[in-house]
Amino acid sequence: MTTLLTGIAASNGIAIAKAYRLIEPDLSVSKKEIQDVGAEVARFQSAVETSKTELQAIRDRAEKELGADKAAIFDAHLLVLSDPELLNPIEDKIKNENVNAEFALKETADMFVTMFEQMDNEYMKERAADIRDVTKRVLAHLLGVQIPNPSMVAEEVIIVAEDLTPSDTAQLNRTYVKAFTTDIGGRTSHSAIMARSMEIPAVVGTKQATSTIQNGDIIIVDGLNGEVHINPTPELLKEYEEKIAEYEKQKAEWAKLVNEKTISKDGHHVELAANIGTPKDIDGVISNGGEGVGLYRTEFLYMGRDQLPTEEEQFEAYKAVLEGMNGKPVVVRTLDIGGDKELPYLNLPKEMNPFLGFRAIRLCLEEQDMFRTQLRALLRASTFGNLKIMFPMIATLDEFRQAKAMLEEEKEKLVSEGIAVSDNIEVGIMVEIPATAVLADQFAKEVDFFSIGTNDLIQYTMAADRMNERISYLYQPYNPAILRLVKMVIDAAHKEGKWAGMCGEMAGDETAIPILLGLGLDEFSMSATSILKARSLIRNLSKADMEKLAEEVLQMRTNEEVLQAVNRVVKH
Ligand code: PEP
Ligand code: MG
Repeated sequence: MTTLLTGIAASNGIAIAKAYRLIEPDLSVSKKEIQDVGAEVARFQSAVETSKTELQAIRDRAEKELGADKAAIFDAHLLVLSDPELLNPIEDKIKNENVNAEFALKETADMFVTMFEQMDNEYMKERAADIRDVTKRVLAHLLGVQIPNPSMVAEEVIIVAEDLTPSDTAQLNRTYVKAFTTDIGGRTSHSAIMARSMEIPAVVGTKQATSTIQNGDIIIVDGLNGEVHINPTPELLKEYEEKIAEYEKQKAEWAKLVNEKTISKDGHHVELAANIGTPKDIDGVISNGGEGVGLYRTEFLYMGRDQLPTEEEQFEAYKAVLEGMNGKPVVVRTLDIGGDKELPYLNLPKEMNPFLGFRAIRLCLEEQDMFRTQLRALLRASTFGNLKIMFPMIATLDEFRQAKAMLEEEKEKLVSEGIAVSDNIEVGIMVEIPATAVLADQFAKEVDFFSIGTNDLIQYTMAADRMNERISYLYQPYNPAILRLVKMVIDAAHKEGKWAGMCGEMAGDETAIPILLGLGLDEFSMSATSILKARSLIRNLSKADMEKLAEEVLQMRTNEEVLQAVNRVVKH
C-alpha cells in the first residue's frame, strides 16, 4: 500500500527513485567484560582493516570526482588508521582491562581528541577531527551498523534525512541525487535553498520521512504539492509519470522566454536575477535566462571542508562567477555564517539562540583576518566582470561603515601593490533586520543598494524561527506588516536615487511578485528555476494596475486577506 506524507513544497519538480537514508547511526557503546581477549583484539584489527579498505575506495572515488584536495582528507584518515600511537593503546586496553573493543576504542580515541583539541595548534586540532571521524567508521564496523556515504552513491536516489546540513548538501553527487525529503525544515531552510539551487525537487518538514521510509523503497517526491508517496501503486506511478510529462511541457513553454527581457504589459522593465551557492550554478542561471546574479551565497565556499578557503581559492571562485556572467551584474554577499550554517573548524562556542547570535557581519568584523582575505579576493576578481559587494545582517550604520572602511583599506593596499581593482564596485547591504528596514531612509544615504532578505526579515519581524516547521504558519510574506517594511525600504532607496532588490524567497513567489512589482521593486533575485515562470507572469501584468493593488493590500489586516486579494486580481 502506498503511504502518503505531506510536508512543505520546498523546490519545484517531481522525482521518482529509490530512497537513500542519510541518517547518523546510533554509535553509543557500553562497557563489557571480555573473556577471550585475543579474539577481541582480532575483532578490533579486522574492523580497522575493513575501514581501511573502505576509506581507500572512498579516497579513490573522491579523487576522481571531486579532485585531489578533497581526497586528501581521506589520506589523513588512512594515516590515522595505521598509527601505532593510537592503535597500540587500544589493543593494550583490551588486553589489560579485559574490556570490549568498542569501549577501548571510544575511551582511547576520546582521550586523544580532548588532548588535541585543547592544544593551541591548528594542525593538532585538525588531527582531532580526523580521529573523531575515523573512530566513527571503525565503531560502526564493530557494532555492525552502516554509516551512510552519499558521495559513493552510484545510482539514482532520493535522499531521506532528518535534516540536511548545508555541508551535507554540498557533498551530494548531483548526477545521482534526484530529490530530497526531510523531517524538519521550512521553505527557507538552507537544505531547501540548496535543493532549488541544484534544481532538484524537495519536500521538507514531513516530520516522519525517516521513521517511515526504508532504504530502497521507491518514493515519489512531489515538490509542486509538498507530497511524498512511499511505494506507490502502479496506477499512481503512471499518474505521476504523466504529471512529470506535463510539467516538462510547461517548462518548455516558459523556456521560450529565455532570451526575452522582463517587461510588464505597460512597458516597465525589472531585472530577474538568480541566487547561487557555487560557481557551478552559473550554467543554470544562463539556461534559465537570468539577467544577473542577485545573491551569491559565498558561505558554501567555506563549508564541507576543514579549514578556511585561501585568498587564491576564493579569487578563482569569484572570477569564475564574474566571467561566467559575462558582464551582467553579480552581487556577491560576504560570508554569512551562523544560524543554521556552521563552520566546525572555527570552533565557535554553541549559542542559545544562534539566529540571534554571533554571526555574519558580526563575526566578520571581529575575525578581521578572515574577512579581509575575502575582501581582497573579491577586489582582485572585480576586474573580471560587473561586481557588486553586499554585507549581510547589517543592523546598524556603524557596522556598515566599519565593513566598508575595511574594504577601502584593502583596496588601497592592493592598488599600492600594483594590483588592478575596478573603481565602480557598488557596495550595498542586505535588509533582513527590522531595525534596518525602519531606518532605511538613513541607510539609503550611504549604501549603493539594498537587497531585502525576506527569509530573515520575516523570521525576525514575526519572531518565528525559519527552521521550525511547527511554527511555519508564521512565515507570512503577505502579512501587511512585512509588506509595509518592504515598501519603506524600496521608497527609501528611490528617494536617494538608489536601487532596491530582493533576494529572499519571497522574490520568486507568484503571489508576492504582483505586489512587489506594484511597490516598485527594481530587482527580483530567486532560484534560477523560478526565473522563467516569474518572467511569464510579469509580462502579463500591468505595473499601473499592480500599483493600485499594492496600495490596497497595504491597508489590509491579514496575510490571508492579501492572498485572496491577489488571487482575485491575478489569475495564475
Ligand atoms: C534572506 O535572509 O532572505 C537571505 C536571502 O539570506 P539567507 O537565506 O542566506 O539567510
Ligand atoms: Mg539571511
